[in-house]
Amino acid sequence: MSRPGVLLPVLQRWSCHNCGGCCREHQITITEQEKQRIERQQWSAESGIAGDRPLIVAQGTAWRLNHQDDGACVFLDENGLCRIHAKFGEAAKPLACRLYPYAIHPAGHLVTTSLRFSCPSVVQNRGELVTSCRATIESLAAEVVPADYRTSPAPDLRTGQSLDWPDVTRILAFLERGISDSSVPLVTRLIRILSWLELLDRADSATVVGDQLGTLLPLLHEASVRAYPGDVVPEQPPSKLARIMFRQFVAQLLRHDTAVLARRGLSARLSLLLQGLRFTLGLGRIPQVADPESVRVAFVERAGLGKAETRVRFRQLEQPLGGRTAECDDVLERYFRVRIQGLHFCGPAFYGYSLIAGFQSLALMYPAVMWTARLRAARVGRSQLQQSDVEAALATLDHNFGYSPVIGLQTSRQRIRQLAQMQQITTLCAWYSR
Ligand code: SF4
Repeated sequence: MSRPGVLLPVLQRWSCHNCGGCCREHQITITEQEKQRIERQQWSAESGIAGDRPLIVAQGTAWRLNHQDDGACVFLDENGLCRIHAKFGEAAKPLACRLYPYAIHPAGHLVTTSLRFSCPSVVQNRGELVTSCRATIESLAAEVVPADYRTSPAPDLRTGQSLDWPDVTRILAFLERGISDSSVPLVTRLIRILSWLELLDRADSATVVGDQLGTLLPLLHEASVRAYPGDVVPEQPPSKLARIMFRQFVAQLLRHDTAVLARRGLSARLSLLLQGLRFTLGLGRIPQVADPESVRVAFVERAGLGKAETRVRFRQLEQPLGGRTAECDDVLERYFRVRIQGLHFCGPAFYGYSLIAGFQSLALMYPAVMWTARLRAARVGRSQLQQSDVEAALATLDHNFGYSPVIGLQTSRQRIRQLAQMQQITTLCAWYSR
């Protein structure tokens, strides 16, 4: 039986640049076969493994690689390289290590590929075109996708309204067409899409399937272009409630649960709780949030930052900071397109969210990234955003987006629904694009 075809994102580059970030930030779960393979590799103290700790520890009913004291994988050496890779070659590493930053998702009879922007090389578009790595990705897909895979259910359009794959493909094409329209700023493109999705959400069930949908989509798109022909100037700030819910969303994405933190026990959990509370209140100084290791290496140390940082107040981030440059738009446009092409915002790849709720959640990443980029700029006393602020913010937030279980909870879904009903996602996009 032939394997399902693999779709690839058409505009993304990636090669590993050995920052070692992923080996410091992720728990690597391994299968029984991988455990046995690592045991056969006969690692000993002479191999340079730190201390006499076990290499593999139990995690519930599964296994995972152990960590060093600083949270790095037990196999990471002092130069930031993998000892398994160095001694036995890439194929000897666990699948989770070989797969990252690719993410492979079901798409009907096919599977589609996205990339995780928590990897700085993905954010910075460094390396080979992903389309030229087809053979590698197909062989990874052969390991990820069950041998008896035939097809998968399409994501719902909205709660209770199922779709067929041809209709999903139609909608994805319009999402991508809208997001790639470089004649207007990215924020306008997002607001146009959010506006036609809102109309689609309200449309009669019979009109959002098949040929009727094919007729409706161009009409909705054109209506959104007429409603938002050019630059979007925010007429009013987001409501108080919307800002609270938005800061809670950002706090969830900024939360960085690491192995080191887990070892600190109750006091670390309490400080996380306190941090969440301060984000909800939004008063005074913004709590200090740790940069993930990959962001620190790729953006902070390389730019010579990290020493003379000042504490920033929540209200400072409400001032305009010039976020609409073409360079910043390009980074985020690529992010949205990879997420759309890789179906990385709805269905099984995103907590089972419907297509509309999933895109609303994805759109909220725009103000979240711009808010966090402002925080980065303000921390070093800059009054203008730079592209690297946006890149570092995106790499930080995308670590959790689609992966933290909290974002799949009912309370998080309810927050997205409420922000959309209050039409505050568009307001937040406009407000933090200034
Ligand atoms: S096994 Fe190697 S590649 Fe995987 S996390 Fe550990 S050091 Fe990194």
